[in-house]
This record gives sequence, C-alpha cells and structure tokens, in this order.
Amino acid sequence: MISSLGSESTINGAAPQLSYAIPAGHLREPEQIPAYWITALEDISRFLDKTVRKGAVETIGVSAGGREIVAVCYGTPRGANGTTTFSGSVGCNNVPAYFGPNADSKVYMGVGGIHGSEYEGIVGLINLIAVLETGCDLKGRPWPQITTAIHGLDRIVIIPVLNVDGRARIPVRMEIHRGEDESVHSYLTNGAWADGSCIGWPACKQFIPLDHALTQFPGGYPNDAGVNIQHDDFMGNPQPETRALFALTARERPDLMLNLHTGVPPRDYFQRMHRPFMEDALGNAFEELYRRTHTRLMREGLQGTNNPALEATPPPKSCFPCNLDNALNLHCGVMSVLVEAPSHGFSGTNREGIPVLHTPDRLVDTQLICHEEAMRFLRDTGGRAHWVGGKRPLTSSERGIGS
Ligand SMILES: [Zn+2]
Repeated sequence: MISSLGSESTINGAAPQLSYAIPAGHLREPEQIPAYWITALEDISRFLDKTVRKGAVETIGVSAGGREIVAVCYGTPRGANGTTTFSGSVGCNNVPAYFGPNADSKVYMGVGGIHGSEYEGIVGLINLIAVLETGCDLKGRPWPQITTAIHGLDRIVIIPVLNVDGRARIPVRMEIHRGEDESVHSYLTNGAWADGSCIGWPACKQFIPLDHALTQFPGGYPNDAGVNIQHDDFMGNPQPETRALFALTARERPDLMLNLHTGVPPRDYFQRMHRPFMEDALGNAFEELYRRTHTRLMREGLQGTNNPALEATPPPKSCFPCNLDNALNLHCGVMSVLVEAPSHGFSGTNREGIPVLHTPDRLVDTQLICHEEAMRFLRDTGGRAHWVGGKRPLTSSERGIGS
C-alpha cells in the first residue's frame, strides 16, 4: 500500500516529493502511546513551546530538506574564544589556549536523532529537558541527582533531533513490540530497495549518498540528500546538519557529548557506550566515564549480569575509526561518546540466550541514568582542560619536533 503519511514533504520544497510504498503493517502503532513518549517533530516542537522556560530554544540550522534543527541551551556559555585552534592547542600542549578564558567551564551536550528511527535517545533527551525544567521526567519521576549535578555544570546544550529529515520521513511515533523480530525496525531504520529487500546494516554504509529513487523506502538513516550524518563527508563537503553541529560545537566548545543511538547487539541486549576513536590521551577519561556509567546501569539491573568485570570494563579499542564522533573530537576537542540503546520495538537476549524485554518506561530511565552519570562525571572530573592537555612547558624533545 502507498502510504500518504510516508511522503517526503518539505518546508521549502528543497527535496523532491516522494511517496513510499511502506507495507501498511510496518506503520502500526500501539493503541496507547504514553504521554512521556514524544518523538514526532511537531510533538517535540509543541513540547518545547510549552515546557522550556529556564532554557532557551534556538534554531541552529536548516536541514538538506529545509527543516529547522533546534537546540535547547541552559546556563552560561563558555564565551570568548581562546588564542588558537584546537589543533594548535594540542600542538603546544595547552588546551586552555583553545578553550579560552573560561577553559574551566563545564559544558555538556546531548545529541539525538542522528538516525531518524532511533527513538530512545530522542525520548531520553525530551525527558531530560523536562527534568532540567521541573525536576521530574514526564512520568513524574524526580531525578534529584541530575538536579544536583547540573549545579556543578556551567552549560548544557541538547539537540533532540539532528537528522530532522530522517525523523520526518518515518510516520510512526512508537513501534509496536514485535517479539524478537527486528525486521520492521530494520526496514524503518535502514530502508529497503525497490524490490522490498532490506538494505540492512552495515550494507547501508556502502551507499552514501543513497539515491532515494532506488528505494522502496530509504529508512531513517539519511537526510533528504541521502547522507547518513554519522558518516558524512566531514572534511570535504559536509551536509547542512553536520555544518550546523560543527558551528554550534565551535561556539560552545563542549567537554563531553553523548551521541544517542538505538542499536545494541541482539545477543547482549543492553545499553552500552562505545569507545570513541580519538586522542589517546583522552582514553583515561573515557574509561572512567564508562566504568561509572556501566556500574550504575548494572546496579539498576540494566546490564546482562551483576559482574562488574564483565559489564563495566571499558572496551580496549574503538570499533568505529571514522565517524561523527571522531570528526567532532578533531574539530573541537570534545569527547563525543556514542551510546547505543536497546529498542522498544523488539527484544533481544542476554549472553545465555534468555530473552530480554526492555519496557519503554525503563528505556527512558536507562537514558536518564546515562545522562546523570555523564553529568556527574563531568562535574567531578573538571572537564576537558583537566582530563588532558593542561598547560605545561614543552620538553626539549618536543621543542625540537617543530611540526
Ligand atoms: Zn544510529
């Protein structure tokens, strides 16, 4: 069936009008969508209009398809620039020279919806905004540790949905739960070729930009220009969404960013952080963040076992050596950490093969626990300028390198 809801309409008509032959069954939603589960762009916009009083809503750019990209900012920006580029600051062992006079400020960022079908991070950020505004999430649960942690931070910047084109393309606010069948989620996420066969992951990464006309449905990964922002042409001709994020991060110079996705392995189906491919010197900071966050998730029953050696030992190396997170690290020094969530739309299993179901309610808790631990880590450890690259004199051998 042709879904009129699946049409790719745009605000300014920059992208072609396309209709997608999405199978009707793929578009089924639960009869009752919980009030805390806000994922559609128009619902997010309404929520921000109604809720944001302490923060400021800012349009940071316009997508390839002509849609506004919005950030919500809290607190005091880092302000004046330093005297050099990030690269220059690393080259002279003086990161504060990049961060500027307020190098000690602590700036936290959360970015969701880089892939438009990955709802968990979006819902988590919406609920985080509710906590920052009212102290409670949209379920009414208070998060006193977040409220306390934010007093130790200077600035919080949240982008609920970066890939607004991808999100707008998927006319589903919440998936129905389909047992252990992930095929519909895969269809909505990575799309299908014209014959209906799923493009799949990681095969989808072979086609950037993806020609939407070759598909039955392009999925929520690409923007309207067919580009998966997580794997953009960062240093050549980046997409408007990437440029908006780069401009914002150059202005804000965040210490720590969580890049929120959905996509944990189906045979160890629990929330996890990935080690970014970044400066070696930031490794200790990542490992401490990982240990804290995964230990907490484990204590909350949100990891596969109660064995900290198994659940809270950081992975030894990055599995994604070139993506948005390491581009951001090169761009502005931020430690950008990709967090994968389980999906509300299907179950996986633990390591022993026993099915694991994550309810939407607990998925929101899981997201907020990650933000809480990341914020407390930033508050307690002092931020980028304290993790590595503080001012110290060059050694004689470093002075002799001359690069
Ligand atoms: Zn993703």
